[in-house]
Amino acid sequence: MGGAVTAHTPVRSWGLPGPFAHRVLQPASLAEVRLPADDSWLAHGLGRSYGDVALNAGHTLVCTRWLDRYLAFDAATGVLECEAGLPLARLVEDLLPRGWFPAVVPGTLQVTVGGAVANDVHGKNHHAMGSFGDHVLGLTLKRSDGSALECSPDENPQWFEATVGGLGLTGLITRVRLQLRPVASGWMRVAVQRFRGLDAFFALNAQAEAKHEYAVAWIDCLSGADALRGVLLAGDHADAAPDAAPRFPPPPRRAGVPLTPPFSLVNPLSLRAFNSAYFHRAPDRAELLQSVWDYFWPLDRLANWNRIYGPRGLLQYQCVLPPQSAETGVRELLRLLRAAGSGSFLAVLKTFGARPPRGLLSFARAGLTLALDFPDTPRVRSLFTQLDACVAAAGGALYPAKDAVGSPALFRSAYPRWGEFQRWRDAGVSSGFARRMEAA
Ligand SMILES: Cc1cc2nc3c(=O)[nH]c(=O)nc-3n(C[C@H](O)[C@H](O)[C@H](O)COP(=O)(O)OP(=O)(O)OC[C@H]3O[C@@H](n4cnc5c(N)ncnc54)[C@H](O)[C@@H]3O)c2cc1C
Repeated sequence: MGGAVTAHTPVRSWGLPGPFAHRVLQPASLAEVRLPADDSWLAHGLGRSYGDVALNAGHTLVCTRWLDRYLAFDAATGVLECEAGLPLARLVEDLLPRGWFPAVVPGTLQVTVGGAVANDVHGKNHHAMGSFGDHVLGLTLKRSDGSALECSPDENPQWFEATVGGLGLTGLITRVRLQLRPVASGWMRVAVQRFRGLDAFFALNAQAEAKHEYAVAWIDCLSGADALRGVLLAGDHADAAPDAAPRFPPPPRRAGVPLTPPFSLVNPLSLRAFNSAYFHRAPDRAELLQSVWDYFWPLDRLANWNRIYGPRGLLQYQCVLPPQSAETGVRELLRLLRAAGSGSFLAVLKTFGARPPRGLLSFARAGLTLALDFPDTPRVRSLFTQLDACVAAAGGALYPAKDAVGSPALFRSAYPRWGEFQRWRDAGVSSGFARRMEAA
């Protein structure tokens, strides 16, 4: 319930099995927010980060679950002001039927607006629209010293740059002012195309990005670079719905994985079978209309899908490689993955555009990004060491929202503004991720 303070509450992240004991504060309203003076604390949204970026084990979490109110909405301009705990799922359900949509959406809607700002999340349209922070007009930051700062690109701009993508370390974002974008329907025009080989991906993707707002490829990570099998999905918001369909389709019903099986259902056998079936079922080339729900958030149909990885949980590996080393780097990553014979049901490959990152610590930057899920096993952890060496050699970066095991050395080389960022940190705030990156 809102307003509750609970001691020793178990909290999980999306990937790590945990649970990890925390003292949890759940203020019922902004007026009730009291940031602790006696313990380190961290803001916590819906816990959809995979690793330790939203954890503060043994210390305090300030959960924004009840700080989820709409404050103002201008239906003529699409400017929304809300509390930071508002889930994107609610925002889209409420405002899509009014013709407004977030300019950037991640692969799940089960995230809060504050969480989306603090990780400066990206979507399938980075080449066209940048990341979430590019559409934040302003925010309010509450700090341990009792101050509340208004920040925007014009007001306290350095605080703004530190807080967008700032991993919750600058304080508690309480309010966000967001520019939404107009859409004429809840449907997407999608161009589907199968490809074989990394060269084919680069060629098709360049064409897709020139013509379409959204572009992403699902690849079979076990197929290597030259024989790479994949499906490119390019999309744009459609002007109208298919015949007889509602212009703004309601969200689909969700099923769920009720229990954690005693072992991971993801293994080399199930992986090969699924990836092969997915590739062969996709049309060689097709154009279709898909609802926004199916195009952007197919995984949201299955609540708790992370349970299929069993009691040890899952690790996600998401990196970005800069344009000049993207091709050689990703070839080497695909070679390592094929040799290891492990990886995701569906790995994601996409390029980020050249727009400079919004925040001091933003992950999304020009280059090629690859994201895969793995069962958490000792073999996978040692594979990650090899992948990390390859990412470091290519001058790339790991995504803190997904990372649970990356080294401080790789983080510091990939986030050179980490030193400068320290100036803007809230002295009362800490996180598992920050402590891991500060370890000698
Ligand atoms: C299935 C799935 C698909 C995903 N797809 C994408 C994707 O396509 N692109 C992408 O970029 N990410 C993606 N993610 C990651 C996800 O979007 C981010 O981890 C997001 O930040 C989670 O939001 P949350 O509300 O759950 O925040 P949490 O995970 O609870 O917290 C994330 C960070 O935000 C901070 N934070 C949260 N609320 C506040 C606040 N009010 N004030 C200050 N700091 C705060 C926390 O301290 C923490 O550092 C995906 C995750 C899943 C599970």
